[in-house]
Amino acid sequence: SADDNIPRLLRTCARDNPAHVFCRSGDETVTYAALNTRVNRLAAGFDAAGVRAGDRVAVMLEHHIDHALTFFALCKGGAVQVPVNVHLKGAALTHVLTHSDPAFVVADLSFRAALAPILQARPALRVIWRGSGEEGELAFERLADNPSDAEPAVRSDDSDLRAILYTSGTTGPAKGVQMSDRMYRAAALGASWIGSITPGSVLHFWDPIYHVFGSEVLVMALMQPITLAFVPRFSASRFWQEVALYQATHLHFVGGVLQLLLKQPPSEDDRGHSIKVAWGGGAPVEVWKAFQARFGVPVREGYGMTETSSFSLINLDDTVGSVGKAVDYFDVEIAGDDGQTLPPGSVGEIRVREREPGTITTGYFRQPEKTAETLRDGWLYTGDLGRQDEAGHFFFLGRKKDSLRRRGENISAWEVENVVNEHPSVEESALIGVVNEFEDEDLKLFVKLKPGGAPLIPADFVAWCETRMAKFQVPRFIALVDEFPKTPTQRIQKQLLSKRTDDCWD
Ligand code: ATP
Ligand code: MG
Repeated sequence: SADDNIPRLLRTCARDNPAHVFCRSGDETVTYAALNTRVNRLAAGFDAAGVRAGDRVAVMLEHHIDHALTFFALCKGGAVQVPVNVHLKGAALTHVLTHSDPAFVVADLSFRAALAPILQARPALRVIWRGSGEEGELAFERLADNPSDAEPAVRSDDSDLRAILYTSGTTGPAKGVQMSDRMYRAAALGASWIGSITPGSVLHFWDPIYHVFGSEVLVMALMQPITLAFVPRFSASRFWQEVALYQATHLHFVGGVLQLLLKQPPSEDDRGHSIKVAWGGGAPVEVWKAFQARFGVPVREGYGMTETSSFSLINLDDTVGSVGKAVDYFDVEIAGDDGQTLPPGSVGEIRVREREPGTITTGYFRQPEKTAETLRDGWLYTGDLGRQDEAGHFFFLGRKKDSLRRRGENISAWEVENVVNEHPSVEESALIGVVNEFEDEDLKLFVKLKPGGAPLIPADFVAWCETRMAKFQVPRFIALVDEFPKTPTQRIQKQLLSKRTDDCWD
């Protein structure tokens, strides 16, 4: 109902289930009652420092309990938080902190150097330092110690804007996705359904709170009595010890997490552990099959994006290579260039529609054109290519922007890269479109070799490709790189790759 919202949820948890352990971190435990009291003190501290309802507050904090307190205290005070990826540096950091135009930033002292140029350029931006700053600065610890633990006098609503979450910036400058209170709660509900989270579940909680999933988990932990086991960062070598220590039942993965666990030497913990489900996105089929076989843990691969906050597709029936079927609360379709719904088997753009209002973003902060481009005729156009089979399973085929044309054929860069990445000498690759000497569209492949691997012999490599892909998919130009330009979420920034053809094998 319109009355439901995150501040109210937290109050209700503290009242109805005060002793329940909301989170653990090493020896520290925080119950619902303690969480509410500490959040209220911090909210009073933020208020005393001048943070007002509606203010945008950038948050650049490591993964610790104070980060969770900050999240809820800003919700209670009605501020709009701008979570900042702690790995951002230079231009990417400046972009987020300039575009979001915040009044305050809450930061760990360890980010002083990274923030220095921005603070110099924006003298009006006030900083609350955690880890105690110098004389005359606002110190988080002092604010958190405010004598008042009264409920903040701010009225909360389910349509309140809670956060502006910047996307990864894979296809261009990061966009600020607006997240309402309702969107958080809907996403948390959806994610807990997908992960089979039930009262008593213990989440191994390494996911950064500055990503949509991490902050969603904080809200999820108020919707059911579950416990979050904070670990400072994901570590494959410590993982099973942490699982044993906290008796964790759930592992969330992105990108290479499962691969890292598979690289660990076999041990008794491989089967004797408490993990019941691994859920996330971005693991190739062979990886999750191997993970299931070795650790006896079902893997749920899904597809999602910041704009929909939770997954919109989830693979619950182990269909190989698929990102699954549409979740209950979204309609998902494959659309053609004229906006028509395409039948099973056709490749087109994945689009998503909410079934309950308020579960997809209302748009990008201060970017009306991007918003209009993405949210059209009741749908969110994802910019991703996909295909659906007769049974409703979706297959992700990469970014629409990365789809290339050559000799009249459509080529998915993502598909070609996946094949190339299987080559024993290749660590990573990226395919882009270039123009050849006949002014025709052609393919250029960038390859990063495995350290210590065998060198790549041009003719052999091309022959290898030819046995595994259609002739029109085989790259014409190939360039070796030492490193790829990447986003902080470890995605290759293709727009920064050179379109020259004179630095290649031909
Ligand atoms: P930007 O929008 O700034 O270019 P981004 O799209 O990478 O950055 P995110 O919102 O973090 O930012 O990522 C969402 C994207 O991640 C999706 O649009 C899709 O391309 C990709 N993705 C989502 N799920 C999967 C998956 N299971 N496997 C591979 N890629 C996925
Ligand atoms: Mg995107």
